[in-house]
Amino acid sequence: MPQRSATLYRYEVPMVRDEILPMYARVPSRTGLLVCLRRDEREGWGEIAPLPGFSCEPLDEAQAAAFLFLGAWVKSEVARDIDAFLPPSAAFGISCALAELDGSLPETMCCRSAFLLAGNDRAQLMSRFDGIPNEAVIKIKIGRGDPQQEGIFIHDLLSQKNITLRLDANRAMTQKQAEIFAHCIAPVFYPRIAFIEEPCQTQEASRAFAHHTGIAIAWDESVREHDFIVRREESVAAIIIKPTLTGSIARCRAQCQAAHGHQLAAIISSSMESTLGLTQLARIAAWLTPDTVPGLDTADALAQQVLRPWPTTHATPMLTAHDLDEIWRI
Ligand SMILES: [Mg+2]
Repeated sequence: MPQRSATLYRYEVPMVRDEILPMYARVPSRTGLLVCLRRDEREGWGEIAPLPGFSCEPLDEAQAAAFLFLGAWVKSEVARDIDAFLPPSAAFGISCALAELDGSLPETMCCRSAFLLAGNDRAQLMSRFDGIPNEAVIKIKIGRGDPQQEGIFIHDLLSQKNITLRLDANRAMTQKQAEIFAHCIAPVFYPRIAFIEEPCQTQEASRAFAHHTGIAIAWDESVREHDFIVRREESVAAIIIKPTLTGSIARCRAQCQAAHGHQLAAIISSSMESTLGLTQLARIAAWLTPDTVPGLDTADALAQQVLRPWPTTHATPMLTAHDLDEIWRI
């Protein structure tokens, strides 16, 4: 009978770029668990890091569920549907570790990502554009200030640079505010807005906004609501899949397949995971959404890398397994 063991580590890394997150979700440091599974000579890692303000489960709940699941796993008692037993962050992390053990998660990483820009300092935002190539995909957070000012900023940006934008309002605007925002942008530029993620507070308002303006939208928060069904809709261009908030690789894969079946783009996105989780998301993106640029530009939000390097933050200090707190071993 194969020998199995499981170890859980805890990491805590200071956040150095929290303007990506809405105010209510900002925390001074990012905390999560790393799971290491061993079976005979093989080893697999995964990250369990519920994101405060977005995940439904707190870290201690994910940890307790992981203890129970892994306690059964080392005895070779494995649940078929891990999403039924584990909250999403734990299902994602443990499914990654299991996939590394059995070699089912391809190694190739998608090294492209949409550049993520956020913050109210326009000069600082503009300065971040220096060095970003024209053909890059850029994502900008909106809905955090005066909609007219934000609309003028996006208009100016599109008139100065030949770029395509993804915008994300995190449901912050009323339909009226979203339409004020859109009316500050010349309609000739609308085709260069790939989509706005969840512009309005409700799906109905977002649909009406898209219908009135002709600007495409994407579902993100809605995808994780229990009654959400992937389907083709007028003006909906994409769904955003955040595996830490969604669940196992199998569940994410099913959502990608459903999206592609309805001619929607599926965009794998990060939830401020450490570089360990990010490299796995980049592998999932290369495997499941090879034709779409994922949203993984969050590595520089954390002051340290964890276990595995991320291509654009190679100068950032790295925590190795020896630097982590081992909290449980079975
Ligand atoms: Mg979003």
